[in-house]
Amino acid sequence: MEPPNLDTALNAYPGVGPARLRALNRLGLFRGGDLLDYYPRDYEDRTRSYTIRDAPPGEPVCVRAMAAELPWLTRVNQGLELVKLKAVDDTGTMTVTFFNQRYVRAAISPGESYIFFGILERFGSSCQMTNPVFELESSPRFTGRIMPVYSLTAGLSNHFLAGLTERTLNAVLDVVTEPLPEALLDRFHLARRQFALRNIHFPDSLDSLELARRRLVFEEFLYLSVGLSMLRRRRSGEGGLVFSPFAMEEFARLLPFPLTAAQRRVIEEAACDLTSGRIMNRLVQGDVGSGKTAIAAACCWLSAKSGYQSAFMAPTELLAKQHFRTLTALLAPSGLRVALLTASVKGSERKALYSALLAGEIDILVGTHALLSPGVAFRSLGLAVADEQHRFGVAQRAALSAKGSRPHVLVMSATPIPRTLALIMYGDLDISIVDELPPGRTPVATFLIGEDKRTRINRFVEKLTREGRQVYMVCPLIEEQPGDTSPGEAPSLSNLKSVIAYTAQLQATVFPTLRVALLHGKMKPREKEEVMSAFLSGEIDVLVSTTVIEVGVDVPNAALMIIENAERFGLSQLHQLRGRVGRGTHQSYCVLITGTKHPESLRRLNALTKTGDGFSIAEEDLKLRGPGDFFGHRQHGLPHLKVADFAADTRALKEAQNAAEELLSVDPDLTASEHTGILKQVKRLFEENPDIFN
Ligand code: ADP
Ligand code: MG
Repeated sequence: MEPPNLDTALNAYPGVGPARLRALNRLGLFRGGDLLDYYPRDYEDRTRSYTIRDAPPGEPVCVRAMAAELPWLTRVNQGLELVKLKAVDDTGTMTVTFFNQRYVRAAISPGESYIFFGILERFGSSCQMTNPVFELESSPRFTGRIMPVYSLTAGLSNHFLAGLTERTLNAVLDVVTEPLPEALLDRFHLARRQFALRNIHFPDSLDSLELARRRLVFEEFLYLSVGLSMLRRRRSGEGGLVFSPFAMEEFARLLPFPLTAAQRRVIEEAACDLTSGRIMNRLVQGDVGSGKTAIAAACCWLSAKSGYQSAFMAPTELLAKQHFRTLTALLAPSGLRVALLTASVKGSERKALYSALLAGEIDILVGTHALLSPGVAFRSLGLAVADEQHRFGVAQRAALSAKGSRPHVLVMSATPIPRTLALIMYGDLDISIVDELPPGRTPVATFLIGEDKRTRINRFVEKLTREGRQVYMVCPLIEEQPGDTSPGEAPSLSNLKSVIAYTAQLQATVFPTLRVALLHGKMKPREKEEVMSAFLSGEIDVLVSTTVIEVGVDVPNAALMIIENAERFGLSQLHQLRGRVGRGTHQSYCVLITGTKHPESLRRLNALTKTGDGFSIAEEDLKLRGPGDFFGHRQHGLPHLKVADFAADTRALKEAQNAAEELLSVDPDLTASEHTGILKQVKRLFEENPDIFN
């Protein structure tokens, strides 16, 4: 065979027949170049070899030994052949057994020294190795070094694949080009591509592997970040409705409070989009209680002043009503017409609303998913607002904006996500952060207590409710192993039944004079809304709940949040729950109850008692639990990454994002000759997801 190049079809390689070709294709491998990008999933350190006596048992190791005899074949039964031989060194003897590898008989000659790589098992004084990799000690290829372990498929061995890859590397490495500019390599101390490719497959040492990996991770994040930035820019480059100039002071006069500096900044960022002639796609992220509603109100107000209607969508009926009340109070005095549409608006009432909407007699329509109903038609929709975005899919957001001809879109989220991740998860949106709470808030006093303090907590509940306050009590619903809970630990709330029973028990024996109610996710939406309304209007003292209350209704009178089995929650989730209290003028409390003795869990929970800053909590959560909790909220549909890992490589992600921003600020279209390599790779990364955000 000619030496392969990047384009060589894999069936031109020796040993690749139709069956192996199919197996390779199944892994997405078609040409020589594909092999270079097919990175190992793991490595075996075969650098060190042992004597028979010293080899540690139970893990794969290299043992150097001499074949003491001709391998002999036995047939155990039909279809199973064993080849066996004895291998010896100065320290002992081991039996080597191969299953169904008849060729071994011819491949091993007595008297020669071999390296056997496999797991050594010891039974008393005898030891044995089964199906090892072996080769002559004098010409090692697969031992004496760190070997790649690839993800495989039936019909393909790791050895064979490693062989193909090595052959390709040897032939093409000299002509592999470097897509990253010198300046970038220098600045971030990155290994060159040639080095990285060789060492990601066949590392000289563990240090070289680390360098190789670091370079490839950075590179992958860089392409991803550049691609997302370009997408974002393309979006915001689309022509949008041009709203009238925004008069901040005129709007501010409508509010019963002065805006915080953060609110002002974010409103200005949004107003800048709205008046620019570019279409707005903006995410406003802000901790619970940071005052995002006022920001949305500013945009709706500007939309109405500019002659357009706004749609304001909330995930629950209760929240929709809350927004309806707030917006009406703020904006009706200046003549804006606000209406509410939920599933409970029916019949002639709904008909009237539809025609008012179409006639342009409604400026702001607040509602639930009902806003997406087929009958809903605007005269001139200029702005779509979605609150608590993580409850909405991208598709719903798109459906909402499809109600108009390309309206501006504002998305609000109270789930603080580290900026690095937000840039990826909301890759299609510009991001504004409300990083300041309105003044005068007393922080929620947070305590971490053990099960032994339960009686004291119950007394505290009684005291607060006597003062007229209300209490949330949240229980995680979790799959538990039977016997997981020790006796005396109050709630063993592994299923709904036990939560229901627990609530009944609280009412009957612990708080007989208080009004206790239960809220859980299996209830019908109607029932949930009823319970929440009753709590809001003060008809319930203690609301026991699974985590359904996470998304936010404002009950200013609720002053105590008790969280059972707190160790079962992520920090961000706990922070969200805590945000349900402290919304009024009363000093509020959050009590985390845990029976755990695990130091790491306790440290984590303790961190929460010390800070109220959602973003720093989210960063901590990301470090401890990885991004799964964040990504869980959203089908992200991002390009598949080969080496980089959002959780483990956060620092590289940050660096790469900065590098991407700098790069695009000097060369927005990557047309400079030293950047064409990057552009090509970005296009390649996004080639399979041309419309990831549509
Ligand atoms: P978010 O939606 O960000 O959780 P909200 O918009 O519901 O927060 O606001 C929380 C509470 O804070 C509301 O009662 C609101 O009236 C009040 N609020 C908002 N902005 C300010 C401000 N600048 N000063 C004082 N109170 C404010
Ligand atoms: Mg809100």
